[in-house]
Amino acid sequence: MARMTAYCILFVALGIALFCSGCATFAMRGHRCNGVPMRVMLLDRNAYNLRRKLPGPMPELKYITIHNTANRVSAVEERNYLNNRRDNVSVSFHYAVDEKEVVQLIPDDQHAWHAGDGTGDGNMKSISIEICRSLCRDKENHLYLRSEENAVRFTAWLLKKHGLGVDCLRMHKDWSGKNCPHRILEADSWDDFKKRVAAAM
Ligand SMILES: [Zn+2]
Repeated sequence: MARMTAYCILFVALGIALFCSGCATFAMRGHRCNGVPMRVMLLDRNAYNLRRKLPGPMPELKYITIHNTANRVSAVEERNYLNNRRDNVSVSFHYAVDEKEVVQLIPDDQHAWHAGDGTGDGNMKSISIEICRSLCRDKENHLYLRSEENAVRFTAWLLKKHGLGVDCLRMHKDWSGKNCPHRILEADSWDDFKKRVAAAM
């Protein structure tokens, strides 16, 4: 009888565990934005991140700023790297897009440190999108090209979501002169990028 009771408890515990992991999987699954799967994996709100990466509410949303990561890693890896950085540099961004998905790090109504213009409009009034894999070239170039295509589709979705047009798109370079997004700048394809976004809206 004691053994039966033990089995029953085990079954119930297993059921609860399975149910909860099912919920977690569902929450992690996220949704699609213009065909691009999105996962919300917000930065941890620990004391360090609050001080260095999550400065506070965005006073007004007027722009979306496009970046290249100047790195080879995936969107989730970019997110996890930023989440764990402890080097006393104030840097953060809202979204990272790779060939598979978009990962959200910061809510749209919060501003971030991504534009290099201090408390100017780049940091204070724009949502940042990092296009990943920008150092993938030659045999891996397809990873960048697919990441950029996903960024085109996602940017179109995000502009529409906030009632903005392609005239509200900016490059990181526009705010601070930095050579970013370096792939779009070296290909001289910014106008083409905006046309592709407009076509995807
Ligand atoms: Zn940038």
